Amino acid sequence: MSTHASPPAAATTATANTTDAQFGLSTRAPSLAAWLDAHAETLDTDATLSADVVPQLAQAGLLRIGVPVALGGAGGTIGDAIDSVADVASHSFAAAFVLWGQRTFIEYLLQSPNRGLRERLLPALLSGELAGATGLSNAMKYLSAIEPLQIRATDRAGTGGAPAWQVTGGLPWITNLRKQGFVAAAAADHDAGGPPSIFAIAHDAEGVTRSDDLDLIGLRGTNTAALQMTGTPLDDNDRITDDAPAWLVRVRPAFLGLQCGMSLGLARRSLAATNDGGPGARAAVADEVGTLTDQIDTLATRLKSGVAQGEFVTTPAKLFELRIALAGVVHDAATLEVQTGGGRGYLRGLSGVARRQREAAFVPIVTPSLVQLKNQLAAQRAKSGVSEASVAQPRTGTAS
Ligand SMILES: Cc1cc2nc3c(=O)[nH]c(=O)nc-3n(C[C@H](O)[C@H](O)[C@H](O)COP(=O)(O)OP(=O)(O)OC[C@H]3O[C@@H](n4cnc5c(N)ncnc54)[C@H](O)[C@@H]3O)c2cc1C
Repeated sequence: MSTHASPPAAATTATANTTDAQFGLSTRAPSLAAWLDAHAETLDTDATLSADVVPQLAQAGLLRIGVPVALGGAGGTIGDAIDSVADVASHSFAAAFVLWGQRTFIEYLLQSPNRGLRERLLPALLSGELAGATGLSNAMKYLSAIEPLQIRATDRAGTGGAPAWQVTGGLPWITNLRKQGFVAAAAADHDAGGPPSIFAIAHDAEGVTRSDDLDLIGLRGTNTAALQMTGTPLDDNDRITDDAPAWLVRVRPAFLGLQCGMSLGLARRSLAATNDGGPGARAAVADEVGTLTDQIDTLATRLKSGVAQGEFVTTPAKLFELRIALAGVVHDAATLEVQTGGGRGYLRGLSGVARRQREAAFVPIVTPSLVQLKNQLAAQRAKSGVSEASVAQPRTGTAS
């Protein structure tokens, strides 16, 4: 596989103005940065490069960031991993979403009590040989009492009397179902009762079917499809946790923190792209760009310290507010980019403006979605008896 295919003319032009020198990836992983810049449009609009993304990320060492050296990682913190997702999102949001899926699955294993599963899967996930997909939107919504779990586990006789199940159900959306091989995390309710479990389901397990790629308006190079399990035999070796609700509360800060990295990187890129406008356009938005830049820095610092210190395990509302605020900043930054780009942004192939508009449109809907979080925060406020008026509004954007 070539890592330096010639960029198509349009993509070259699209990245010619806003140099990536200001983004960390160009220094840390210049080959990957160049590959992403050359192919960002393709990664968004079709699936021709979908097999290459995980290997490219692995080759640049990004999958090992924040993983202990003793487990085959590069060391560092979860904050470093969030930064790496942000760095990639500044070049290609589709690739950042794949990195989120892969790195989040790796985090599930790091936080799983199942040592055998970790030892079995981690090496191939870190090397990029195996793709990790996180199908836990359903579980996150379940945790917030929005929808029931869509997968059921029925007891079956396991080897030597060990716990074992047959799993049936489907997930309508999962990213990083790489056709060459994947493992997907999914939550299942037990027919026999007790807390739901989360399983690691292999692509070649009996009864597992991956749909064709979904017909998306963007992010088409992300291997996003539906997954169906019919009588899939699983046992304790495949179980990430036997207490999904308690475990999800602990892992949610990393899940959401890494996801917020995508917003950080996208907003930074849109703000940087406002520099491509003429002097008059730049002057007109200079104050807003400055305000948004400060907000991004503040939100990034709060996000990384809160995730690292475990603060969001006990106070998830603070993390939800950060997620909502970041979505506002993404929206505002993308809008400023449109304003300064003028008609050039409306012409195909001359800039990344239209692509970033599509990318920005995804931010509010990925689980936990903004409407979901707004409802949760409102319910929490109602529960604690604090009136809406006395609580600071989380959205911090300036442009509209
Ligand atoms: C390109 C793409 C890739 C995706 N990849 C993954 C993935 O890798 N893994 C994964 O698990 N999921 C993935 N998803 C799913 C995604 O995270 C969201 O869960 C999904 O888009 C929202 O589900 P829905 O459209 O069925 O929402 P609906 O159930 O139709 O609801 C619409 C909106 O209302 C909200 N909502 C519904 N009920 C309530 C309520 N009672 N209170 C408050 N808000 C409510 C929902 O959160 C949603 O925002 C992906 C989606 C897309 C578009």
